Amino acid sequence: MNIILLGPPGAGKGTQAKMLVDQYQIPQISTGDILRAAVKEGTQLGKEAKSYMDKGELVPDSVVIGIVEERIKEPDCAKGYMLDGFPRTVPQAEALDGMLQNLSSMIDHVVSIEVGKEELVKRLTGRRTCRECGAGYHVMFDPPKTEDVCDKCGGELYQRDDDNVETVTSRLEVYEAQTLPLIGYYKTQGKVRPIDGVGDIKDIFGRITQVLS
Ligand code: ADP
Ligand code: AMP
Repeated sequence: MNIILLGPPGAGKGTQAKMLVDQYQIPQISTGDILRAAVKEGTQLGKEAKSYMDKGELVPDSVVIGIVEERIKEPDCAKGYMLDGFPRTVPQAEALDGMLQNLSSMIDHVVSIEVGKEELVKRLTGRRTCRECGAGYHVMFDPPKTEDVCDKCGGELYQRDDDNVETVTSRLEVYEAQTLPLIGYYKTQGKVRPIDGVGDIKDIFGRITQVLS
């Protein structure tokens, strides 16, 4: 099963993806995570991506398309995968369709997680992530048992550089202008599964697994 998790920054894509990985035993492919790892390692890709990410802008299509094209050919993707944060523009979606056609494959479901703007700002500015295992938390909505310490591995929690109010505002504008048109793109393919993304994390997981079953 090949799934796209679509939704604005802060909609809960990463949170739900981590639970869906366990449920369906398919990998999560997060272009944001891949780019952040490249920035941390200081690779050429990381150096190129960082300036866009810091401003809340999108990294050029050709760069992320190349990343995904390589990643979906890895053996662990043979039984399916979940794309989280890709595609984010119509040209990225078209490129994805093209590469899947070449692989005689296709996207089965586009899970569109819907959350209002005010809630998104609260979620993003309070987000914390584990440096070691990547687990996600929220200072108010999903706090760790001990402040700044990961419940799962004891690692240190940090706040992403782009989760400040100013960058969050540009990321939400970029989403509306460049990513929202993908709903129409995938509606014409009959693949959009709208999910109310507000409420308990486990309830939302239940809503998603229901539409995927
Ligand atoms: P995305 O991957 O879509 O950008 P995340 O999964 O990282 O979003 O979630 C953003 C923030 O919102 C995180 O701090 C997460 O803990 C929190 N969060 C996720 N789902 C919910 C929810 N249903 N209610 C409240 N907070 C949530
Ligand atoms: P995310 O972790 O999904 O919130 O992504 C963080 C940042 O990485 C975004 O604000 C972009 O700068 C960049 N990024 C991630 N995925 C993409 C993509 N598919 N296209 C362009 N830029 C991306």
